[in-house]
Formats: sequence, C-alpha cells, structure tokens
Amino acid sequence: MAALESAGPAPKLGNAEQNLLQPWPMAGEIGLERRGLIDSGDGIYVTDGAGHRMIDGPAGMWCVSVGHRNARLADAMRDQAMALSFNSPWYTENGPATVLAERIADYAPGDLNHTFFTTGGSSAVETAIRFIQFYNNILGRRSRKKIVTRTNAYHGSTVMTSSLNGRALYSDWLDPVPGILRLSCPDPFRRPAGQSLEDFTNALVAEFEALIAREGAETIAAFIAEPVMGSGGVIVPPPGYLAAMHGVCRRHDILFIADEVVTGFGRLGHIFASQEVFGFTPDLITFAKGVTSGYFPLGGVTISARLFHDLRASDNKKALFAHGLTYSSHPVGCAVANVNLDILEEGLLDHSRDIAPYFQQSLRTLSALPLVGEVRGIGLMGCVECLTDHSSPIPTENDTAIGLRIDRHCQELGLLLRPLDNQCVMSPPLIITRSQIDEMTEILAQGIRLTMDDLTREGIKLA
Ligand code: PLP
Repeated sequence: MAALESAGPAPKLGNAEQNLLQPWPMAGEIGLERRGLIDSGDGIYVTDGAGHRMIDGPAGMWCVSVGHRNARLADAMRDQAMALSFNSPWYTENGPATVLAERIADYAPGDLNHTFFTTGGSSAVETAIRFIQFYNNILGRRSRKKIVTRTNAYHGSTVMTSSLNGRALYSDWLDPVPGILRLSCPDPFRRPAGQSLEDFTNALVAEFEALIAREGAETIAAFIAEPVMGSGGVIVPPPGYLAAMHGVCRRHDILFIADEVVTGFGRLGHIFASQEVFGFTPDLITFAKGVTSGYFPLGGVTISARLFHDLRASDNKKALFAHGLTYSSHPVGCAVANVNLDILEEGLLDHSRDIAPYFQQSLRTLSALPLVGEVRGIGLMGCVECLTDHSSPIPTENDTAIGLRIDRHCQELGLLLRPLDNQCVMSPPLIITRSQIDEMTEILAQGIRLTMDDLTREGIKLA
C-alpha cells in the first residue's frame, strides 16, 4: 500500500457535552464536559481543533512510540482487516497472534514464554490476577488470596485493578475489593531526611518482610509493581530495590507481577525492562500501550512456563480457567503489534537507548529554575516536579494546580504535557530527535517561567 498522502478530512464534531461521558470526570461537571479537541497528529506533533501544532509530550498516554501517522502501522491495520478482520479466540486461532506470542517469548526474561492477549492494560493486569487465583486454587493453596501493591501505583480502571491503585483520589468515591495490602512508595525524593539510598531500600524491604510476618505468607498470592511508577509521577526506585523485593517474593513463594504497561516496548530502550534494566525476572509481565504504539487497543500478560508446568502436573481434568475476552488475540491488533515490533527492531529500540541520556540531561537543566523541586526520570520517561516551598518535598496547597498552569502556558507555546498536580510528566514518542528535545525543553522552561510570573503576581513567594 502507498504511504498516506494526507491526514484526511477533519472529523465531524458531535455534541460531547450532551452525549459523551469522558474518562475521569468530576461529579460537578459529569456528562456536561467539553475537552480540548485534538484533530490530527504527525510524527511527534499533534494539532488541535484551531490548527495549533504542539509536541505530543506524553505520546498520547505513554503509548505513541513510533509517532503519529505512521503509514506502516496504518497499512498493517488495513491489510489485516481486509485479510481477516476477526476470528473467535474461543475456538480458533489466527496467524498474527501466534507469531506475536512467539516473538514476545523470545524477548521475555527467564522462562516467561506464554502470552495471553487482552484489550489493554487493565484487562492484562486483571488476567494476571485471575491466572494467579486459578493457579493457587488448583495447587491447593486456597488461602493465598491477598495482593500486595504500593502507594502511588497505577494498575488500571476495572474494579480489581483500580483497587490496586495507590492514590486515595482513585478510590475514595468508589468501592475497592477487599484483600489488597499496600506498601510505601519507593520514592527517593521523599525518603526521610538524611537517609542514604541504601538505607531507604533496606527500610522498604524490611517493611515488606514485616507485612508478610504480620499477615502470614500463606495468605499472600502476589506482589504487583511497575518497575518505574508512571502515573504516580515517574518514580524511579532506589538501586537494588526491585531485585531485593523479588528476593523477598521468592523466599515466601509470592508471585511477582511486573506491570510493564508503561515501561515495556521501548520506553526504557528494551522490549521489557524488568531484567534488562533492573536485573530481576518476574513470574508474570503485563504490557499494553507501546505494544501497538497506541494504534490499536491491545495488551497482554506473559507468564512463566513454571506455572504452566505446575498446573499440568496437578493433572486436574475438571478445572477450567474460565477467562477469555471476545477480543483476546485480535488479529488486527496483533498484526499492528508485529509491524510495531519490526520498527522497534529495525532501529527504534537502539534510538530510544541512544537518545535517552540526552533527554534526561536536557530535562535536568530545568533544575536551575527556582520553582523546580526535582527533575527525575529514566529512559524516555521524565518528570519535572515543582514546589513553591523547597524546605520540604511534600507539596503544599499552592502547588496542587501548578502542573495544570504550566501545561496551559506550554500548550500556547506548542507543547502538550501530562500535568499531575504539581508535576509535569513527559514521555515523548521514541522517534524524538535531539533538536526536538531542545525545542521541548525550551518551551517547558518558558512555561515554568511564565507560571512563576503568575505566582508572583498572586503574591505567592517561592521559598
Ligand atoms: N498499568 C499501568 C502501569 C498503567 O500505566 C496503566 C494505564 O495507564 C494501566 C495498567 C491500565 O491500562 P489501560 O488504561 O490500557 O487499561
């Protein structure tokens, strides 16, 4: 198929405030909301309804890795839809899913070699949890029910996965499922004053051990962790933390789910980051987003062969793993993912690894601005955290809307951010170049300066 010639006609606009329930709405405006229209995208840029072009700082939502308007992905979708648009995964299989599963097994660490494809990240995490329930029940470990998660974690938006999320905001007005245990966030910026990173890691590990001693290892099924917390504000854990937490899981026969929905498929320069970046091999890895560069809703969970071996050894002929989605192994999604993987293999993974230090270095220049409290990140994930009062890393009331304010200025200047309270999160398309990184950082610096001017006008002093 020929490459796309034009971005196509602008979409007809419907009546969002009457007919569209937007994700994450506030009760006061639910069902009445209009959001900024994004009309088109090209490479690292998106264009809004008024024709204003901006860098897509968050790559959609951590996902548009190959950039917008990639003709190869568009062609893959069309070609697959014309060849086979759908088949029932209940009774049949399709080529793209079998090929993708095999390729993922080659990249997954250790003996993780079976993948179940889902429709996104939440359904991937949900599948991981249900698989673990099945595994423990079949093996006669019926008391192992609890799941350990962490403050500030984000694992999804279904009943189960949202119960694993770590911010009060996410659950205060909804009803989480019972049996979730929560550990501290491994956030080096907010560790106790004067504590070394090594002592901080040891304290976090000791907290896990104490929780297990209190609850009883025989009641705990799994520990779930994003290798780098994404929506929690790009929290890069202290050195050795993940491997040490993995060691605790092994000692107590607790399964480790690495939620790589954000960190997988190139964002940290590898298909999976658990082993390649952080040196541990989990029992299950969940992924989504970057697997199709966001062009098609696809996710999955890759599972250790050991668990299949144990299940088969149980020789239970009656037990059915009653889990499957209409769109499991969707042929169009898997076809797109295969071409996306080709692009990563042909050089984008290398590029992501090569450009990441420049991205990190460039963002860190913003530390010089008086409003900036910390700049952190790894790979092509970055966060600029702002604080009006630097005497403590805990944001004050003056800080909560700073991310939104900076985003507003940056949008006008040509950069879309992901504002998170007092933080600006950045995870650009992996195709970003050095000069585009310069452009992005310059705009962000200007957005922060303009926000500082606003604060001064309002009489808020920086301390
Ligand atoms: N897990 C992580 C680490 C995520 O960041 C997200 C979404 O941002 C999810 C799971 C949920 O994915 P989805 O929104 O595709 O259901």
